[in-house]
Amino acid sequence: MNDFVHIHAAPWVVPVDQPPIASGRVALYQNRIFAVDTVVNLVAAYPDAVVVEHPQVALTPPLVNAHIHLELSHLGQLSQGDAPDQFTNWILALLALREKLGATGVHVTAAARKVAEQQYAEGVSVIADIGNTSVGQELTPYFAGNLLAYKEYLGFSNDRLGDNLARLDAELPVTLCSAHAIYSTHKNLLQQLKSRANQNKAVLPIHVAETKAEIEMMDQGRGEMVDFLEQRGFWEKDFLKEVDACKGGTITYLSRIGLLDEHTLCVHVVHASDDEITMLANSGAKVCLCPGSNRFLRVGKAPVKRYLDAGILPALGTDSLASNPEVSIWREMQLLFQDYPELSNADIFAMATRGGAEALAIAGQTGTLTVGTHADVLAVPLHEDRVDSADVLRYLVSTGSGVKPTRIQHTRSL
Ligand SMILES: [Zn+2]
Repeated sequence: MNDFVHIHAAPWVVPVDQPPIASGRVALYQNRIFAVDTVVNLVAAYPDAVVVEHPQVALTPPLVNAHIHLELSHLGQLSQGDAPDQFTNWILALLALREKLGATGVHVTAAARKVAEQQYAEGVSVIADIGNTSVGQELTPYFAGNLLAYKEYLGFSNDRLGDNLARLDAELPVTLCSAHAIYSTHKNLLQQLKSRANQNKAVLPIHVAETKAEIEMMDQGRGEMVDFLEQRGFWEKDFLKEVDACKGGTITYLSRIGLLDEHTLCVHVVHASDDEITMLANSGAKVCLCPGSNRFLRVGKAPVKRYLDAGILPALGTDSLASNPEVSIWREMQLLFQDYPELSNADIFAMATRGGAEALAIAGQTGTLTVGTHADVLAVPLHEDRVDSADVLRYLVSTGSGVKPTRIQHTRSL
């Protein structure tokens, strides 16, 4: 029966690559979007199509969560109450709790699976998961959408470099790998991760410029991050040569060592100068914002408007329950809506959909309701009593967590 054209009709269709359509229609054929238009045009063009009415909803693309750590889902107590006074104290608290509760095991996988299922129930079809255990990889077959499980590499000191490079060299080409951050990953390892990702035509995610301490390390070779590395025995004095050559922030460093191109996904990017934003834009590198995690850890507010002005549409990520009390892309949109009145609602919703798809290099498949993309459409309930649904984009970005869309999927029966 799925070989018929199905036309799904709703008071609003939000394609994202064009303005919302009142009394809109989305036509699905086999497992693709076949047409997006108004009622009159589509029904006239396909008089034999099956028409399904969806009253009181907005039809939208599915959401993309471009950054999470599912393997940390059992550490939610870290994001209850106040965050530690310093970022590195949060890292220490995370390491201590993980040591106590374990990094793997049935309870870890169960907590991770619950979060992944919640994501899907809220309309997230694609998750980019970062982990240094196999929890994400184990969940991949069980996730109803597309779970991209990245294996994270880190190791700052010279003495671990050889082992890490050998480990990376032994990975199967299909294994997705990510870099942790510049303060935790040796320059040669970063470069090898990038060159391997390029060879495999894969995206390389990396945490970038999350805290001021990271910028101080790159600009002046001192501060909280350097103290932290020294205390843990990982600091290398010869890194000061990199600092001397760089004299700037994280992005300046990444640009100088050849890490930035259109398949690099810079996560957080809270602290970036105007010159660095130009560097990102010129390289085509992607940005993923994590407003909930940034708010909890009090690391600052990302310069979102400056990214948009430079032509960068960021993606959105929740980060993990260890740094964000609520891992919901609807909540991330709501935080942007509340904290950045200068942003348009259309841009915020585009970040949660098209921005994520572009960041993960799957824009031809999802992220917009466009002819040819997958027949995976959300029917988001519009509750009149909550927000004025005449302004559908405002409704979508201001509602917050707990949205439970229905999914319209069209998989061709064999
Ligand atoms: Zn992260």
